[in-house]
Amino acid sequence: MPIFSVPESLRTWAEVDLGAIRANHDFVRQRIGPSPTILAVVKANGYGHGARETVRTLASPKTIFGVANLHEAAEIQTVSDGNDVMLLGPCLPGERREAVRANHIVTVSSAAEAEAFSRFGTVRINFKIDTGMGRIGCWSDAAISDLQSLHSVPGIEVHSISTHLPSADEDTAFTTKQLTSFTKLARTLHEIAPTAKLHSLNSAGILTLPEFAGDIVRPGLMLYGSSPIPIFSTALRPALAWKARIVLLKDLPAGAGVSYGRTYISSTPIRTAVIPVGYADGYPRQASGQGVGILIHGKKCDIIGRITMDQIVVNITDVPDIKLGDVVTLIGNDGNMSIDAQELADKSGTIAWDILTGIGRRVERFYSEAP
Ligand SMILES: *Cc1c(COP(=O)(O)O)cnc(C)c1O
Repeated sequence: MPIFSVPESLRTWAEVDLGAIRANHDFVRQRIGPSPTILAVVKANGYGHGARETVRTLASPKTIFGVANLHEAAEIQTVSDGNDVMLLGPCLPGERREAVRANHIVTVSSAAEAEAFSRFGTVRINFKIDTGMGRIGCWSDAAISDLQSLHSVPGIEVHSISTHLPSADEDTAFTTKQLTSFTKLARTLHEIAPTAKLHSLNSAGILTLPEFAGDIVRPGLMLYGSSPIPIFSTALRPALAWKARIVLLKDLPAGAGVSYGRTYISSTPIRTAVIPVGYADGYPRQASGQGVGILIHGKKCDIIGRITMDQIVVNITDVPDIKLGDVVTLIGNDGNMSIDAQELADKSGTIAWDILTGIGRRVERFYSEAP
């Protein structure tokens, strides 16, 4: 375990183990074999882990970095120097000039959209096909004719042809059908643009159907050590631990209400600790009353009452010797106990992606090593 030195004056912080990100990246490589390129998805500040630090950790000559938009591409620009950057989402018309100037690989859903970029110079495009996501991408029936017309426009270089999987983590039968029909369509598209690379797999796809890796894979969540497929959880190393210090200790008598709405009333005298973290830091308010714990001295202590904007109250009656300023774990390990982003997500009715990307700006990030 890496050692982090965190000032005692800090209320809450996240410890990011860059070695874990590297190990998870190696696990992706192991799944897909030596040939495919890894497009490491570092959008949303590297899923909350720090985009620049993740880029520095994973930068190798072939790696491509995937971001959501132009703003995120600019954030990693100085550290991704020399690596290709793909914008996974569409650009606004007003962003196209800058995207071309920066030589990013832009994702387009039609011939017209590709042409609009090419007015500003030579552009590399990722031609996205909608094979069932129903979001961005050219509807698959129109893909051949659109690719034909954009391919004849000077200044458009088809870097890749790709699709996205809506249900790779829950419906392998649908996903297999989707990937089989994409592979078939891609054969025809490849005749039009023979140098275009093919890609479709996100983390769940890499874990369940690695035989469809194609030329490039696009892992996001799994790089950070959270598995969308439960059986692979132990193969990955969670890279982030979220910690805080107890800011107040207090005894309450039986019959005391705790927090807004008084949804919790103590049935006996209890000892409580106040944790200076709340939903404004990204701790999910929906976890209130769901039996979610926070780890203190290697024991799980229940959150009681509603999670508020800046504070959480925890029942510490059964844990002796707790002192003001003691470190607690909101996500991560403490002794034999652990709480991961997936568990917190399940209990608050959301997904691990949402928990990790939601960890807020007030939570300072510390890194295990110079990346
Ligand atoms: C975010 C994203 C990914 C990564 O998805 P994970 O499920 O986090 O692995 C892959 N492809 C595209 C197009 C994305 O937008």
